[in-house]
Order: sequence, then structure tokens, then C-alpha cells
Amino acid sequence: MKRVFSGIKPTGHLTLGNYLGAMRRWSAVDQHEADALFCVVDLHALTVDHDPGRVRRLSRQAATLLLAAGLDPRLCTVFVQSHVDEHARLSYLLECVATDGEMRRMIQYKERAAAERARGGSVRLSLLTYPVLMAADILAYGTDEVPVGDDQTQHVELTRDVAVRFNQRYGRTFVVPRTTHPEVAARVMNLQDPTSKMGKSDDVGPGVVYLLDEPETVRKKIMRAVTDSGSEVVHDREARPGVSNLLEILAACAGGDPKELAGAYETYGALKKDTADAVVEVLRPVQRKHKELCADPAYVEGVLREGAEKAREMARPRVDAAYRAIGL
Ligand code: ADP
Repeated sequence: MKRVFSGIKPTGHLTLGNYLGAMRRWSAVDQHEADALFCVVDLHALTVDHDPGRVRRLSRQAATLLLAAGLDPRLCTVFVQSHVDEHARLSYLLECVATDGEMRRMIQYKERAAAERARGGSVRLSLLTYPVLMAADILAYGTDEVPVGDDQTQHVELTRDVAVRFNQRYGRTFVVPRTTHPEVAARVMNLQDPTSKMGKSDDVGPGVVYLLDEPETVRKKIMRAVTDSGSEVVHDREARPGVSNLLEILAACAGGDPKELAGAYETYGALKKDTADAVVEVLRPVQRKHKELCADPAYVEGVLREGAEKAREMARPRVDAAYRAIGL
């Protein structure tokens, strides 16, 4: 059975982008077709300014939402990265294989480092080395496939390069993984700025739909989404990013093809209304399950404890093998 690994960062509240770009497929497809691990990658949340108590709360909330979105611990392994030492153990070895040039070329690093500097802050070294820890997350499990939104493509490419280089230098140790993306909504855009992706952010932005937003809030945000000048509903990501984003969200939530759906609408208003309804319907069962799970925190704790034990057992032999291969 193929091995699948993916993760989510507890740097903010989870968004519709996280759900449509990644989580939904994890629960609908991956956990059934693969030996799959899903991880709340809390160490990655330390690469930028953070409040420790908040990271802890957000980690628990992310894990609860993964279960609410349908991940079933009988079918897959759900755990928190920092509970499994193997990730950090392997990361160091991979730092000895990756180069600083490779790290500095990463688009996400360039953007985040520039934002940090613009705020007058300093850039943590871990922000630069983040993709190596991500490579360790993936490679420790002999992962064949990494299902992610398309913003993560460059990091998975780097993971492949590092795996190939390690194998060439020290003998075959790692499986070289590939990415998979959803067919639609692989990059959900911000509703207020459809040229940038819908990302978790600290301020509760009107352009971001959060998984735990009330239906009325979801409707308001979508009805107020920025659309493009012109009034015709067409799917063209370059020329009409706002409308195309809505069409993709609608297609991902209600089914259908964004280009064909475009033909069914004459006004932006009607498109927005149907998109809002479709998103509310998709979020409804997730929110209901989330509420149930919040009433039983001991269950979530137990899942994460067992998940970490299973993950540790899976990762340890390969990480030990990497240490031996490198001559330690
Ligand atoms: P972020 O902090 O940007 O929300 P994470 O690094 O936690 O994202 O990503 C978790 C998963 O969600 C990844 O597979 C990522 O590709 C996916 N993802 C994040 N934002 C979006 C988006 N706007 N559209 C599609 N997928 C997304």
C-alpha cells in the first residue's frame, strides 16, 4: 500500500483554502487508499513570532478539525509533529545535505522574510531552514505521495532533490516522493485580494473564510468578495481572478467544472449567492462534528497520543538507517 504524508501548520485558524486544497482529499480519498499520516506541524509554527500558549491551542484546534473533517484514526494516523522526536533528528542530517542557496531560493522564504524585515523584525534561522524540516517530515515515513495545495509544490520538489542527493551520497535510504493536487481549488485566493492566496492570518480578515465561521459570516464574506471590472461571468484566472476564484470555490463545493459553471451565470450576485450557499453546506457537517469533538477533549488527546506512538514506530527505523548510512 502506498504511503501518504501531509501536514498543516497551527499558525492561525484553518481556512477554506486548507480544506479545499488539502484536508478534504485527505479524508475523502487518501485515508481510504493509502497508509496515510496527517500531522499538525507545530514546530513549523515557531519559525515566526508566536505566543506559545496560542500555538498549543491552535495545534489542538487543528487536530480537532482534522478529525471533524472526517479523518478516522482507525484508517490513518493523526499526530502532532513535536511529539515525535524523529522529525528533528532527521532534519539535522538533511541540513548537512541541503545547501543554503537552495533555501534562499524558496519563494515562501523570500516573501515571509521580506514581510518580517518590512515590519522591522529579524528573520529566524528556522524560517530559512523550514523546508528541510518539512523534507524530514516527509522522508522519515518513506512517503510515496504528498497531497498538498499548489503553494507547497516548490517545497516538495526540494524534498525530492534532498532525498535523491542523500541516496546518491550515502546509499539508498529514502523513497523519493511526488505531490498530488486537487483538480480544482488547488489554490484558493483571498476574497478581498484575489491575486494572493487565502492564508491563515492573525487578523480575522474579511477575505478569508475560516472553517469555524458562522454561516452568516461566510455569506457576508462571499457576498462582499472583490470581483473584477466588467460584468460577464467567465473563468479566466489571469484576467478575472476574483470571479474565477468564486467559480473554483463553487465547483469544488458543489461539483462541476468552473468553466462550464461560468456559462450558467449572468450576474456576479447570483454566482456569489450560490457560492455562499455551497460553502455553508460543505462546512456544516465539519462544524457539527467539531462541536461534538470539543465536548470530548479526552478523545482527541487519546487519538494524538496513540497517533504519536504509531508515527514514532514508523519513523524510527528509517531515521536510524539514515544515521547509519551517514556513518554515525
Ligand atoms: P497556510 O499556513 O498557508 O494556511 P499550511 O502550510 O498550514 O498553510 O497548509 C496546509 C495545507 O493547506 C497545505 O497542503 C497547503 O498547500 C494547503 N493550503 C493552504 N492554503 C491554501 C489555499 N489558499 N488554497 C489551497 N490550498 C491551500
